[in-house]
Amino acid sequence: MFTERLLTLLLRRESARRARLENLEQLISVPQAAPARTYMLYLHVPFCQVLCPFCSFHRVEYRQSKARRYFEALRQEIRLANEAGYRFDEVYIGGGTPTVNTEELLQTLDLLRRLNPLRTVSVESNPDDLQGEKLAALRDAGVDRLSVGVQSLEDRLLTEMERYQKYGSGAQILQRLQEAKGVFRTLNVDMIFNLPHQTLDSLMSDVDRLTRDVGVDQISFYPLMGATSTRFAMRKTMGRVTYARERRFYEAILDRMPTDYRPSSAWCFSRGDGVIDEYVADRDDYVGLGSGAMSYLDGTLYAASFSINRYIRLVKSGHSGITRQHRFGLRDQMRYYFLMRLFGLELDKDVAEAHWDGRFHRVLWKDFAFFRALGAIQDTGRSWRLTRKGMYVWVLMMREFFIAVSNFRDLMRLGIRSELDPEDLPAVMARMDGGDQPRARRG
Ligand code: SF4
Repeated sequence: MFTERLLTLLLRRESARRARLENLEQLISVPQAAPARTYMLYLHVPFCQVLCPFCSFHRVEYRQSKARRYFEALRQEIRLANEAGYRFDEVYIGGGTPTVNTEELLQTLDLLRRLNPLRTVSVESNPDDLQGEKLAALRDAGVDRLSVGVQSLEDRLLTEMERYQKYGSGAQILQRLQEAKGVFRTLNVDMIFNLPHQTLDSLMSDVDRLTRDVGVDQISFYPLMGATSTRFAMRKTMGRVTYARERRFYEAILDRMPTDYRPSSAWCFSRGDGVIDEYVADRDDYVGLGSGAMSYLDGTLYAASFSINRYIRLVKSGHSGITRQHRFGLRDQMRYYFLMRLFGLELDKDVAEAHWDGRFHRVLWKDFAFFRALGAIQDTGRSWRLTRKGMYVWVLMMREFFIAVSNFRDLMRLGIRSELDPEDLPAVMARMDGGDQPRARRG
């Protein structure tokens, strides 16, 4: 327990240091693509029907007219990336709720297919979108993997998360999952463990119902993450966040998961040849398009404006939505690689050395020694693998990493006003309580 607390503290400090981005006044385009290379694409759709109190993503309440203008801009940005030489073989569409406007999403998928040699398409969704016609349209548009945000199947917890009213009871959600099963190559369900009022019995029942009753292809069990901006809203509706039970809950998931579900990352369990959940675990670089999207290219992190109006205007005038960037030093780039590869359970030594010109182990020898002494990683000869203890250590490290990312999102939200053109200010001030602004307070 002490080791975990100490690690949390160290990681929190370290992640906060890395998450600072410089203000970039002049940046108006992504760098030119490397010739003959294909990339991973992340598309962000920041609209949701409800804004859950625990969620720190960039999301706003859905409004049809605004969403239409946004999707148009998103397609324009896809064309701009294509003109800059980017070709994508994998796309992950996240949010928000990308399926909130299926018609617009299908048009966007159609454009992506025409411009890119896509191999896999992943789309995030919510239980109310699991309806026959919608599902068939998504499958026909080439969606391979549908990821459904369920979070819990216990009605009391769904109510506390303010999801019950919109997405229905646990029993209704299970019924919809049954209908969606087999439609896509991979049906993934996103769940949360360590919710304040969750019991071990409730969590175990979720594992059983998803694996035995429905038999979904993949389950991602995220630890509850208490970002600074969500802590207040969470305490009000869901209770106080504490990490004291986190390890016990995680170990119980590992013990309960049927053997045909193998871990494909520290918190994702797949059956069959499912697509890996965490796209950052196996790709070095990725391009993010859309308001609030982040790109990581050649050691530099780029972030697009969190102001949806600003984003639309930038793209309409022929620029990318990027307004900030941060160049990581070599050691930080290597540590990011180390963190992500081992999050995917294994780090191949030869591949790592080839990637880092033979310097990887020389620069990170202290990190390897530390995690080996902790019993978190083991040397298999050709690779480093996470041990069972290491799987929890990585859950903890990823939790802190994502909390730092959430805190960075808060900074970006705060920066919205300074990014606006002066003539927009009065309208934005008047809308501060409306749905136009990302609601940092609620999530
Ligand atoms: S968790 Fe809730 S608010 Fe966050 S993206 Fe999903 S539906 Fe939207």
